[in-house]
Amino acid sequence: MVLYDLADINELMHAAMLRRRTQVPGNEVTYLVDRNVNYTNVCTINCQFCSFYRPPEHPETYIQSTDEISDRLSELEDIRGSRVLMQGGVHPELPLEWYTELLSELRSRHPSIALDCFSPIEIEGISEVCGIPTKQVLMHLKEAGMHGLPGGGAEMLVDEVRLDISPKKGSAENWLRVMREAQELELTTSATNVFGFGETNMHRVLHMDRVRVMQDDAVSAGRTGFTSFISWPVMLENNSFGSRNRGNNRIVLGASPTEYLRHVAVSRLFFDNIAHIQASWPTMGSDVAQMALLAGADDAGSTMMEENVVSASGTTKTEATEEELQRMILRAGFRPRKRDSDYVLLETNTIHEDLASPVPMQPEA
Ligand code: SF4
Repeated sequence: MVLYDLADINELMHAAMLRRRTQVPGNEVTYLVDRNVNYTNVCTINCQFCSFYRPPEHPETYIQSTDEISDRLSELEDIRGSRVLMQGGVHPELPLEWYTELLSELRSRHPSIALDCFSPIEIEGISEVCGIPTKQVLMHLKEAGMHGLPGGGAEMLVDEVRLDISPKKGSAENWLRVMREAQELELTTSATNVFGFGETNMHRVLHMDRVRVMQDDAVSAGRTGFTSFISWPVMLENNSFGSRNRGNNRIVLGASPTEYLRHVAVSRLFFDNIAHIQASWPTMGSDVAQMALLAGADDAGSTMMEENVVSASGTTKTEATEEELQRMILRAGFRPRKRDSDYVLLETNTIHEDLASPVPMQPEA
């Protein structure tokens, strides 16, 4: 809290950068070539900040077929991508077999693509529809080919904030429990954090604390736990949360670039047990994301081909090419390195040879 409230931003960023150098040594910044698939926009959870979902029976609802989704994965193979992030709304009727059959088919048609699918609230939705506990749902999905879970839906893991912005999403403990079960089954997981709902700095630190305590438990039990921590400010342009909070309230909602950089730097210093901190270019733009790389982030996120959920609320840029991510990393003074969903480093063809020898802009630790 002292760092969050009082630290000089330059000193904070510098300290976070030094910590980054000890946790993730070297001058490389990683990125992932992936795509998003939003298999359905039907959702019964009605989060106030969400502009993506449509309630059941709405004329604009859709559910994608296996062939449609498979075509999208073929496009990903064409650009040598390695992971699909598949999320939808929480559909009130699709049975477990719909998900397992989809996963099995995708697994056999696209064996090189890691299937990171269905955030904790979707797992809870499937559990309700099919009447079996969430851990059993996860076991069936893993057996069908699921590799991991997206970290979505964490937002703020503080119940008084959750109740205000998405009361039907349930308690923070629900999100943590499903993630714990996924980690016990050795599914890949990451932790996210959307902030800027008007919560206090203490709420933000409490969110980080809940993730850090769970990570301690995972590590002491010999598990990987969360691969990374990814934060971004809420987008407000096109949703009821934004409309409800026009006028003076807008000043306290979302986050300015400095506030975002402070959040990234504090998260790097706070998470002594999570190696990777991600910069968010879709919400903050590539200029601020570059600054985040100087504030302790070591990963530039992913190409996010066809992201629909956050972008529906008003991001300016919704997907990036591998070349654009490389350019962003190089121009911040780092060497780009492609990775997979588990942060395993992959062979990388540096596209901009003229920029391929960046000068490190921060001292080694
Ligand atoms: S954020 Fe997810 S759970 Fe919430 S309304 Fe949108 S699609 Fe549904």
